[in-house]
Amino acid sequence: MYKPTLDYAQQLDKEDKLAHLRAQFHIPKDKEGNDWLYFTGNSLGLQPKQTQQYIQQELDDWAKYGVEGHFEARNPWMPYHEFLTNSMAKIVGAKPLEVVVMNTLTTNLHLLMVSFYQPTKTKYKIVIESDAFPSDRYAVQSQLKFHGFDAEDGLIEWKPREGEELLRIEDLEKIVDEQGDEIALLLIGGVNYYTGQYLDIKRIVEIGHAKNCMVGIDLAHGAGNISPELHDSGVDFAAWCTYKYLNSGPGSLAGLFVHEKHAHNKELPRFAGWWNHNKETRFNMRQPFDVMPGAEGWQLSNPPILSMAAIRASLDMFEEVGMEALRAKSEKLTGYFEYLINQIDTDGIKIITPSNPKERGCQLSIQVKNADKSLHKKLTENNIITDWREPDVIRCAPVPMYNSFEDVYRMVEKLKELL
Ligand SMILES: *Cc1c(COP(=O)(O)O)cnc(C)c1O
Repeated sequence: MYKPTLDYAQQLDKEDKLAHLRAQFHIPKDKEGNDWLYFTGNSLGLQPKQTQQYIQQELDDWAKYGVEGHFEARNPWMPYHEFLTNSMAKIVGAKPLEVVVMNTLTTNLHLLMVSFYQPTKTKYKIVIESDAFPSDRYAVQSQLKFHGFDAEDGLIEWKPREGEELLRIEDLEKIVDEQGDEIALLLIGGVNYYTGQYLDIKRIVEIGHAKNCMVGIDLAHGAGNISPELHDSGVDFAAWCTYKYLNSGPGSLAGLFVHEKHAHNKELPRFAGWWNHNKETRFNMRQPFDVMPGAEGWQLSNPPILSMAAIRASLDMFEEVGMEALRAKSEKLTGYFEYLINQIDTDGIKIITPSNPKERGCQLSIQVKNADKSLHKKLTENNIITDWREPDVIRCAPVPMYNSFEDVYRMVEKLKELL
């Protein structure tokens, strides 16, 4: 159905109902003023043009009102995080009560583990994917040690089989079947950062809960990329950053999800600060701690408004477009990308991301034979921005918000030439 020609790619762009969004982003350019071919929205999303004005609004109100801006600003800072909640909840398939924007991803994982990793002497192990993002691995290892366990003994890795790159759900089932009595927590990346594999979150939750294990999902590569339906999955908790597919700027704040079934449990162990204390009495200052229901009950501090303004600028775009339309374009765009790569007559590269669109987001991970990093370097020299991950993978993410079918076509033409 697809065709490997520039005309055809341009035709797809003409038919694309989301094509106008590209002009609403700053696309980095080379010295001659040509747009870079930017395929690293999975690492740092591009800047929406309206972000500047959203941040400027808060700078202006800070200049104008000082501390009174908490109530007098056009978007009062006191409830500012609440302006993000509904849009963010829609993006991850949650109820507003279940979601809050705060802190950064790894910090949120730790705060969530304070509540949901409650090991006993015999049930204390944690399952992660063998290719988990290093920060997640370090976080769970340090949690194990913090509770007095051996980080090696306490960590169980869900690995691909010998000679394979992708994870099989039945292998997780086997681990939990056999060792479930010793496992306290499953912490799994919903979309694996390395292979781009989108795992069946609902199934993971069923497997974990069948053996009374808590289940948490890291959605760093899922939020704004796939539609995870967190509430319906029954997952206990989740966290994600907003600087990847959610285009909110370097180091921007993260999202946190706690399932409704835990929303009113005041007995859960957790760390406290004035921002998870009851809003009604927060400023009486002398009240005993009274935790808020829902995800807001995990906040600690009053949040950085300038970063939240950038998130708001981006979420307003997601709100306007909707995940459904984005996902539809994404499947087509990545499908075209895959088709073009498969047309290349070489055994020097191989796509390791699942070919089933339901088992991936927009990213394709291309394995390079004999781990030749020079290919990645040459792509970069040609203003094609991709991401190299040891030992042998180039990750490319055509992002439906701003990448075009022509981007994908030109990228693969260059790749062909370089091979
Ligand atoms: C990007 C990413 C991180 C980064 O964590 P920060 O706390 O935001 O620095 C962690 N885990 C995963 C799976 C990621 O993809």
